[in-house]
Amino acid sequence: MATGWAREGAVQEQIDDTVNDAVAQARRELTHAGASATHCDECGEPVPERRRDAIPGVRLCVACQEVRDNQRRGAGFNRRGSKDSQLR
Ligand SMILES: [Zn+2]
Repeated sequence: MATGWAREGAVQEQIDDTVNDAVAQARRELTHAGASATHCDECGEPVPERRRDAIPGVRLCVACQEVRDNQRRGAGFNRRGSKDSQLR
């Protein structure tokens, strides 16, 4: 009986592993389908694989992303700045 129980457990483990592998593979395929750019949309520099893994669907390299982020922040600051100066 003990042996039968152990076998059942082993089979269950195998099933779990198979499911986990399938999920992991599906996620990998989804990430690829999410069209992460291998090269930056902006400057054409290669996008590091780690960055593509970390941000599914990433389109820009680190440098261009920073420029874009700074532009957005800068626009926000400018609007606030002009409002402040109007108030004063
Ligand atoms: Zn770039």
